[in-house]
Amino acid sequence: MKKHVIVIGAGIVGVSTAIWLKRFGQEVTVIDRDGPGQGTSFGNAGLLAACAMVPVTTPGLISKAPKMLLDRNSPLFARWSYLPRITPWLVRYLKHANDRDTRRIAADLNGITADTVAQHFALTEGLKAREFLRKSDYAYAYASRSEFEADSYSWELRREHGFEPTLIDGSAVQEFDPNFGPSITCLAVVKDHGFVVDPGGYVAGLAQEFQDMGGRVLQATVQDIQTREGMAPRVITPDGPIECDSVVLASGAWSKPLMSSLGLNIPLESERGYHIVMTDASGGPRAPSMISSGKFVATPMKAGLRCAGIVELGGLEAGPSEAPFALLRRQIKEAFPLLEFDREETWMGHRPATTDSLPLIGQVRQTGVYTAFGHQHVGLTAGPKTGRMVAGLIANQPTNQDLTPFAPHRFGR
Ligand SMILES: Cc1cc2nc3c(=O)[nH]c(=O)nc-3n(C[C@H](O)[C@H](O)[C@H](O)COP(=O)(O)OP(=O)(O)OC[C@H]3O[C@@H](n4cnc5c(N)ncnc54)[C@H](O)[C@@H]3O)c2cc1C
Repeated sequence: MKKHVIVIGAGIVGVSTAIWLKRFGQEVTVIDRDGPGQGTSFGNAGLLAACAMVPVTTPGLISKAPKMLLDRNSPLFARWSYLPRITPWLVRYLKHANDRDTRRIAADLNGITADTVAQHFALTEGLKAREFLRKSDYAYAYASRSEFEADSYSWELRREHGFEPTLIDGSAVQEFDPNFGPSITCLAVVKDHGFVVDPGGYVAGLAQEFQDMGGRVLQATVQDIQTREGMAPRVITPDGPIECDSVVLASGAWSKPLMSSLGLNIPLESERGYHIVMTDASGGPRAPSMISSGKFVATPMKAGLRCAGIVELGGLEAGPSEAPFALLRRQIKEAFPLLEFDREETWMGHRPATTDSLPLIGQVRQTGVYTAFGHQHVGLTAGPKTGRMVAGLIANQPTNQDLTPFAPHRFGR
């Protein structure tokens, strides 16, 4: 039976869900307070990070984090005035920085990240938006072989999940890509990755094609989701309620208040991230490269070289800080000394981060409300698969993937 489904949020997750729902024959309305692709999906590093199953919370983080926060060359920042508010989240988050949890989380994430390139190609089957996709290698760039070896815990996990790097050392680094400066002397290159040459344009293009298929996009802020015993949910906007059969909540880092109205208190915070685009750049890497010391990815995009990364704990309200941009600039110059460009564009955005690093994918009790948010550092990577699975749940085309680790009620009330 054809249902009317409202998708809240037009980021990569919401738009992917909407396209798959349409393909499964449903009537679909997407509601976003801004235009499609204007949230976090606008400014990411564009990487289809097939091997990014290792969460930030690896063993040892608890002892490293305080030092990192005080070191101006470390990619971890905090707005000190926000620390009291984020402390309860942080305590729960850091509890996962142990071997058993890291392995479990990595296995669960791998289920939604590993086949990302295939999922993006399936999403864009027959669509013009496929023009935004590129297949590529992904290089982790280290200052030294010993820095690579210090990362052995994460590499062991990636290997266990089938991602074996090719190591490139010393002068072979410049043979691989002459644009790396002398500060990079070791590369670990992983095959079968991909990237998007304009992530905001990709999501906006997908949303346009969703409308061409007969889908609706409304610009409005959703204020509430009402669920009523034995009845279909409805969505409240400033222009009044909208009736529907099902709701998909895909509003990224802003999903917490709407979950509260369903009686669930989700430990969701923003891991703020930054980018600088050097427009019309030459002298950058030829494939997406993670500069390990700075934890940012440099990706050759349509507009120029985009360098995106950094984690800042600082909530959803405050504007960008200057120090993360200054660090990015210093580290970009060091990694790519030959870089020339026209001008800089800067941006800050909000990764939706749960305390256990896993997104919420599934139905909230039997309410007709489905969750599709909380993809932290890998939302572009895992968005199309998440959208396909959620659309399948609604349209009775269930996935064979075990969704228990992503259950929306796993944090209790
Ligand atoms: C610096 C940086 C680099 C990154 N690099 C990568 C990368 O290379 N690869 C990768 O896979 N991931 C990356 N990520 C993570 C990725 O960008 C996010 O996980 C992903 O964009 C989340 O997508 P989303 O659709 O859940 O949220 P969003 O794109 O934020 O979309 C949510 C939408 O909901 C709307 N909304 C919110 N509240 C309401 C409301 N009440 N009513 C109506 N609309 C509402 C917003 O306007 C927004 O458009 C990066 C993130 C950052 C910050």
